[in-house]
Amino acid sequence: MTRLWNEPADFADEMIDGFVAANGRYVRRVPGGVVRSTTSPAGQVAVVIGGGSGHYPAFGGLVGPGLAHGAAMGNLFASPSTQQVHAVAKAADNGGGVFFTYGNYAGDVLNFDAAEERLRAEGVACETVTVTDDIFSATADEKHKRRGIAGDLTVFRIAGAAAAAGADLAEVTRLAQHANERTRSFGVAFTGCTLPGADHPLFTVPEGRMAIGLGIHGEPGIDETGIPTADGLAELLVEKLLAEVPEGVDAVRGARVVPLLNGLGSLKYEEMFVVYRRIAQLLTDAGIEIVDPHVGEYCTSFDMAGTSLTLFWLDDALASLWESPVDTPAYRRGSVAPQERSDTAAAADVADVIEPGDEASRAVAATVLAAVRTIAETVDAHVDELGRLDAIAGDGDHGIGMQRGSHAALAAAETVVAAGAGARTTLTRAADAWADKAGGTSGALWGVILHAIAAKLGDEGRPEASAVAAGVAAGSRGVTDYGKAEVGDKTLVDALVPFTSTLTQAVDAGASLTDAWRSAADAATRAAAATADLLPRMGRARTHGQNSVGTPDPGAVSLALIVTAIGETLATGAADTAAAETSTKENAHGTA
Ligand code: ADP
Ligand code: MG
Repeated sequence: MTRLWNEPADFADEMIDGFVAANGRYVRRVPGGVVRSTTSPAGQVAVVIGGGSGHYPAFGGLVGPGLAHGAAMGNLFASPSTQQVHAVAKAADNGGGVFFTYGNYAGDVLNFDAAEERLRAEGVACETVTVTDDIFSATADEKHKRRGIAGDLTVFRIAGAAAAAGADLAEVTRLAQHANERTRSFGVAFTGCTLPGADHPLFTVPEGRMAIGLGIHGEPGIDETGIPTADGLAELLVEKLLAEVPEGVDAVRGARVVPLLNGLGSLKYEEMFVVYRRIAQLLTDAGIEIVDPHVGEYCTSFDMAGTSLTLFWLDDALASLWESPVDTPAYRRGSVAPQERSDTAAAADVADVIEPGDEASRAVAATVLAAVRTIAETVDAHVDELGRLDAIAGDGDHGIGMQRGSHAALAAAETVVAAGAGARTTLTRAADAWADKAGGTSGALWGVILHAIAAKLGDEGRPEASAVAAGVAAGSRGVTDYGKAEVGDKTLVDALVPFTSTLTQAVDAGASLTDAWRSAADAATRAAAATADLLPRMGRARTHGQNSVGTPDPGAVSLALIVTAIGETLATGAADTAAAETSTKENAHGTA
């Protein structure tokens, strides 16, 4: 349970403010997260980590000499937005390229990839290694789908050490990849965690029971047993990890391993030491040479009671990088020479100039604003239902994520419309605000959809129905490019693809935008309902797929609700326009 907060919605921001106030020696605040407050040599590869907040010391607590150069810090348990990742990377870049490394979660992958694409277009070289240490989140033949938990630290450290040693971007990437291949973790939980302001935990474990294979966002465990003794738990953890020794480790006997016993938030250090005592015996009995054991909190899950064991299998190259010193707010090893402070003068705010749209486009912008308002109202009306659908196989945040995103979009659209913006500017600003504030997978994808439509609307004149249909089609392609989901994977793509094809066909056949939109919305609604029969293959829901059979996909449902409501707004708008045209004609007659 979390006891102290002001406004729950401000918690992550205020947490970062306080963290920076307490650790100015190491970090300074930039839009989207933190970067080192000390200088780095020109040309050094910048290691940028990140993810949702609520995992301290991951991720901001791991920024400093020898480790990360910057951390993108999202909302609680929500991916940082594309804008946040981009801004942190820009601030961290030393001219040697940016190396991204973070836990393999769908929302993070989407936003970091989009930021990477933007940076590359700006001429910044980028590479990425996602951490996939959790052996219980996918089978060994699908290792690339595994999520990252406390094994983040070993990969981050190797990348940071390589960068500090002057390795170039390709070499940092190769070594981090190698470290990831030699890192394996496995965890258990005894209670769920409760986010600030929430009145119930994200999940619960029955009293006296232990969930096996937990994630760090409250994703429920994959199996459950009674709580063993401390020794019994040590035996379970070691047994599972020794059953999956990484390729390239020829023999367990004689291998060098860094064991990392991680506390997830409210397990006592004392309890962990009792468990570690037996872990050390078991590893030694197996003939393993223990190197630099870690027992403590490295990646938490708010106040979850639980623990995970990570084994990092060293070779000569990794062992020597492991020796290099680190000095960060939450993690220190060896001694780092005093660092020069960087000039922390904040860059002057760039004035926000809005190019005014022409008269026709300003009228379209009013319709865009009405549509965005409709989206926010629709999400408000269904926020609990969307959360409930997402909790069945995902993490339960779809309603609040959509609410944060759509309301940020509405506020942005209102501001720029008042400043005379045309349709493209209005919808672009709304899309950016949505992606920036929503967090999570769906927020990034809605940003992509709205951006693509905006590009076709323009800031001059009134777009044809075919331009709107082309914008929706481009948005749909953007979603599949970024998210890699196909029809049948049980995602919002299942509703978006039939929506797009029906809209395009109807517009091509000469229907008005309003009529075409409404038949497309009907197709989306049917398709969203039909996702109930599917098994999820993408996103967070994948791990708990079976639970969701019989329930439709939350992202598909929200998309169908939204396009249906916009159809109604368009119909009202069309009626208003017709009425306005009539009355203008009457006025014209009257004054003639
Ligand atoms: P998160 O999964 O990050 O918690 P949300 O809960 O807001 O984000 O959104 C979940 C929805 O996102 C899912 O119901 C699904 O429709 C959609 N989604 C997840 N992954 C993908 C993907 N790769 N491509 C398209 N849609 C996806
Ligand atoms: Mg979710």
